[in-house]
Parts: sequence; structure tokens; C-alpha cells
Amino acid sequence: MVFDYAARIARVTAAMGRSGVDTLLLSVGSDMPWLLGYEAMDLERVTMAVVRPDSRPTLVVPRLEAPRVDDRGEIFDVVAWDELEDPIGIIVDLVGAGSALAVGDRTWSMFTLALQARLGGRTWESAGPIMAEMRMVKEAEELDRLRAVGASADRVAERLAGYLFGGKTERRVAADIAAMLVEEGHDSAWDVIVASGPNGASPHHEPGDRVIQIGDPVVCDFGGTMDGYISDTTRNFVVGEPAAEYVAMFAVLREAQEAGVRAATVGTPCQDVDRTTRKVIQDAGYGEYFVHRTGHGIGLEVHESPYIVEGNELPLAAGMVFSVEPGIYVPGQFGMRIEDIVIATDAGPERCNNSPHEFVSVR
Ligand code: ZN
Ligand code: ZN
Ligand code: ZN
Repeated sequence: MVFDYAARIARVTAAMGRSGVDTLLLSVGSDMPWLLGYEAMDLERVTMAVVRPDSRPTLVVPRLEAPRVDDRGEIFDVVAWDELEDPIGIIVDLVGAGSALAVGDRTWSMFTLALQARLGGRTWESAGPIMAEMRMVKEAEELDRLRAVGASADRVAERLAGYLFGGKTERRVAADIAAMLVEEGHDSAWDVIVASGPNGASPHHEPGDRVIQIGDPVVCDFGGTMDGYISDTTRNFVVGEPAAEYVAMFAVLREAQEAGVRAATVGTPCQDVDRTTRKVIQDAGYGEYFVHRTGHGIGLEVHESPYIVEGNELPLAAGMVFSVEPGIYVPGQFGMRIEDIVIATDAGPERCNNSPHEFVSVR
């Protein structure tokens, strides 16, 4: 086993003790695979891990999915429920007398509400803070996987410099980028963003039928999963020559992104990284066009803690991994964003994305 799940369980149960949590209930999402190495199917048949400091974790899983669970008898017990059985009753029994219960953030409300109806007199809270604290600082193997998946995405960025954009629809370009990610080693791509011309002003634009024209700036935000860990990078392309206004704004964006990466040192509060990128863009007079936070943590999920946003005073620690992705979006005209994944290390910020940051003129 590559990851030491027993050590992770020990850390989580220690954190539960510090937070006064008697029982942790995890279901779909990335908390359970991080903790136990098994990912619940995102379906209406409940899968739930019941974690208590006084016993081994128990994974309650539908009988038909039990064969998917690797035998990890030394780490957790498995209880398979039959098709006509009442899984909520099994979970209620496993919770026992514990009064302070914490539920994973992604748990379907139908499961949480069914448990609450049968477990009166308990207190309920989100397991999010405990799990974020545990998952935010990556282990050495996780960092290696994030570096590798970032390098794979960089190879796609470099291939795009020679790719023909003009005359293709955004949807076609997005499909080609997704295919390139797999060719370059990803297991799968997430929904790639290709936003051309005025569509670039929408940060999460969904690629559509717009045909890319000569003179269009194109924002490409792409990534996916490799060995369970996720990439996320944004690069900018211009078909032919850009307008002078675009070039001037891009110089500001480039400076803002560089300043943000340099600011991401161990001990710096997350919000200071956001303030650093924002100040460069505001000072240039484009503040109203930077409409989102500077970044988000990344790992098993594309967006996770720590969030690089005003109000987050959490100091960066060595091993935290997050995006630095300021953007400038001019409604009706164009947009631009530069995004790298960065690791905070004791030797300073380390980029997982090192493809050229300048916009690239393409055909
Ligand atoms: Zn985004
Ligand atoms: Zn991102
Ligand atoms: Zn992105």
C-alpha cells in the first residue's frame, strides 16, 4: 500500500479527540478515499464509514459493491448490507452512544436526514474542518503525484502552441485538449474550459458552438486526474495578433500572477496571496475586472482547502498545494487568466506548472 492509511486514521481520531467529536460519518466524496483508500459510489444506496476513536472504522457498503472493496481487514471492518436490509439501522447501531457526530460535507442530505430522524438528542456538525486540516498538508507521495500530473498538463500546454485554433468550435478544441491530456498520461480529463473572444469574459464558460476567429484571444483552462491526483492550469492563446489593449492588460496579469506565486511562502496568510495579486491588478485600474478569488487548494479534488481568498487568515504551511490564478475579464470583449498549481515549501514556492506563461500567438 502506497499510503499509510492506519497512520491517517490515527491522526483523524486524534483530531476528533481535540475537537470533541465522538463519531465521524463519511460517505461520497474524497474524504473516505483519503482516509480508507475506498471511494463510495455516488448513488442512492448508502455507503458510509463510521469512525470512532475507540474501535476500528467500519465501512457500511451495499452488498453488490462489496467486491470493489480491497480486503483491508487490518485497517477497517466491512459490513455489507443486503438489498432489502435497512442500512440506516446498521449505521445507527455502529454510532452507538456517541453524542457529538460529524458528517462529511458531501454526504447526501437524504442519508443525513434519515440518520438524524433516528439519532435524537445528538449534536451534528460538519466533518469538513477536521478533514480539511488533515488533507491540506500533502504527504511526499502526494506531492510527487501532483508534480507529475502538473508536468503532464504542461506538455499539453506546449503542444497547444502549435495547434490550429482558427475555424474550430470551442467544443472541438475542448475535446482535443481532453484527448491530449490522456495522451500525455492523464487517466481522464475534467470538463475543459475553452473560452474564445467575448466568451473569455466568463471565467467558467462552457465550451460551445462558437467558431474561433482570427484575432480572438482564447482562454484554455484544463486538467484532469492521474493516479488519483488532479491538475489544473490555464494558458492563453491569440489567433494571429492581439489588440494593443489586450497586450497591455496581459502584462499586468503576468505581473500579478508572478507576484502572487512569489508571495506564497510558508507562514504567509492565504488572504495575503490574494491581496498581492489583486493589488497589482487594482493599481493598473482593472480591479473591477478581477471577479474571483486568487485560488483554491487541490489534491484529490479540483477545489479543496486552502482557499486563497480574502478573509482566510490561515498561514500557508510547507506541503500545502493550491492554485494562483488571477484573471482579468472585460465583459463583451475578452478575458484572460494565468493559472499555476503551487506548492508551499520551506525553500519557497514551487510551481507544478512551468509551461510558458506568456500568451501564445497561434494559427
Ligand atoms: Zn475555476
Ligand atoms: Zn483552478
Ligand atoms: Zn483552472
